[in-house]
Amino acid sequence: MKRTPTSKHPPSAPPGTKVAPAVAPTPVPVNFKNLLVPLDFSPSSRQSLRQAVALAGQFQAKLTLLTVIEPMGTPDFAASFPLMMDEAKLCADANAELKKLVKATPGCADVVERILVRFGRTFHEIAETAQAHHSDLIVIATHGRTGFKHVLLGSNTERVVRHAPCPVLVLRISPDQLASNS
Ligand code: ADP
Repeated sequence: MKRTPTSKHPPSAPPGTKVAPAVAPTPVPVNFKNLLVPLDFSPSSRQSLRQAVALAGQFQAKLTLLTVIEPMGTPDFAASFPLMMDEAKLCADANAELKKLVKATPGCADVVERILVRFGRTFHEIAETAQAHHSDLIVIATHGRTGFKHVLLGSNTERVVRHAPCPVLVLRISPDQLASNS
C-alpha cells in the first residue's frame, strides 16, 4: 500500500543520520526596572509617557522623567550678561510643567521616581542621564515638537539611539493615538 506523509509526523531522518537533540532556547532575561522617559511636552512625548507608565506597571519598574533645555547661542557681546537668573527660572518652569504632566497622566504618580531638568544638548543629556541613573530602557517617541513626518526619526531620537548606553524603545505614535489623547 502506498503511504502518504502526514503533516503531523514529519519524515524521520534516513537511517545512520545523527540527529541533534532538541535544545530548549535559553530565555533572555528581560528586566527593565529603571525607565528613562525624555519629554519635550509634544503630543507624541505625552503619549510615550502613557505607554511608559503601562510598561512600568508590567515590569514593576520606576520612571525617571527628563526635560532638557537647550541653551541658545549667545553672541559674544552678550556673553557676560547675567543669564543665571534665566536658567533658574527656566528650570523652575520646566519642573512645574513636568509635575503638571505627572498629575494629568493616569497612574503616573505611582511609578515616577524622579523628575529632572538638565541644560545642554538634548541627546547628550539623555544619554548622560541614562548612564548616571543606571536606566535600563529609554522610552522615546519617533517624533517630537518639530514632527517632520517625512523623516523616519526626529533628530534627537536618532541621536539617542546612536549614543544611549542602554536599549532604546522607539515608539511610533499613530495618528489615532494622538487624536484620542489630545
Ligand atoms: P522632532 O525632530 O520631530 O522634534 P525629536 O527627535 O526632537 O523629534 O523628538 C523626539 C522625542 O525626543 C520627543 O518626543 C521627546 O520624547 C524627546 N525630546 C525631544 N526634545 C527633548 C527635550 N528638549 N528634552 C527631553 N526630551 C526631548
